[in-house]
Amino acid sequence: LSGKNRYMLFDTKHHEAIVGHHERIARIEKALENEEFVLYYQPKVNMRTGRIMGLEALVRWQHPERGLLRPAEFLTVIQNHPLSTALDAWVLGEALMQTHRWQADGGHALCVSINLSAMTLQQGQFFDILKSRLAQWPAGAGELLEIEILESSALDDIGSVIGLIRQCRELGVRFALDDFGVGYSSLTYLKRLPANTLKIDQSFVRDMLSDADDMAILRGILSLAQVFDREVIAEGVETIAHGECLLDLGCDAAQGYGIARPMPAARVIPWIESWVAPAPWLNREKR
Ligand code: C2E
Ligand code: MG
Ligand code: MG
Ligand code: MG
Repeated sequence: LSGKNRYMLFDTKHHEAIVGHHERIARIEKALENEEFVLYYQPKVNMRTGRIMGLEALVRWQHPERGLLRPAEFLTVIQNHPLSTALDAWVLGEALMQTHRWQADGGHALCVSINLSAMTLQQGQFFDILKSRLAQWPAGAGELLEIEILESSALDDIGSVIGLIRQCRELGVRFALDDFGVGYSSLTYLKRLPANTLKIDQSFVRDMLSDADDMAILRGILSLAQVFDREVIAEGVETIAHGECLLDLGCDAAQGYGIARPMPAARVIPWIESWVAPAPWLNREKR
């Protein structure tokens, strides 16, 4: 190929990539209009008492041709696009509707947590979106809502994120730092961010039984949580043995496939009614 043709080839590919990206964004916008998104819910439990603490809402795309898609297949496409805030607003509205429905149908006051994209956290419109969505429900709806944010997405403009968290907390909304321990954790940020809960990233939990370093990190996060007076929950609890070990370390709250996989809203109440924590967890003696 001559130099000129090479550039043309490159330009064509580049152009196709851009067009493809725009098409994917347009398709996601259409999916939002067509109500193709659904929320799945994954329980959070206290392993020692067996109590249900709440549920995390996790978005799925029920694609008419491709089936049920997980966030990894579409969130990165819109991560720097205003659509991610539109999707977060939809998730918020849907989660509030669902908490209301569970309360109205069976008297189940279940706390639901939603995940916020970095874009939404930094855009400055979220508090207004939250207020308007909460206004559609009886007072106190905010007390059944928790918001999970990534530490990394709070860092760009930490001052305004701190302000936003404070405003939301006045409405009863709780905050959790998701995937805690990976990324940019520093003690200074932890001290400044007024989040109620630290969610220990699943990467530390996965290998905790065989990896002494991960075990040390878990101990570190747990003592940090105690010093800063934060609650702590372990993600990615896949086996009874993981849970036993976490209980021995003093971490009672957990979420993971070993408890339940994310499930459609209709399966939540039947799951709650039939769930019993594994015997080795229940009333396990504190070490
Ligand atoms: P995340 O908030 O850290 O959610 C935990 C992810 O781990 C979920 O994947 C969940 O299905 C999965 N998981 C739970 N328990 C286990 C386990 O025991 N083992 C393993 N290997 N995985 C487990 P999912 O649903 O694919 O979501 C991935 C990420 O996408 C989430 O990570 C969150 O950052 C983002 N996300 C999900 N839903 C939303 C949403 O509605 N809005 C926004 N902005 N982000 C979302
Ligand atoms: Mg999360
Ligand atoms: Mg996480
Ligand atoms: Mg994650």
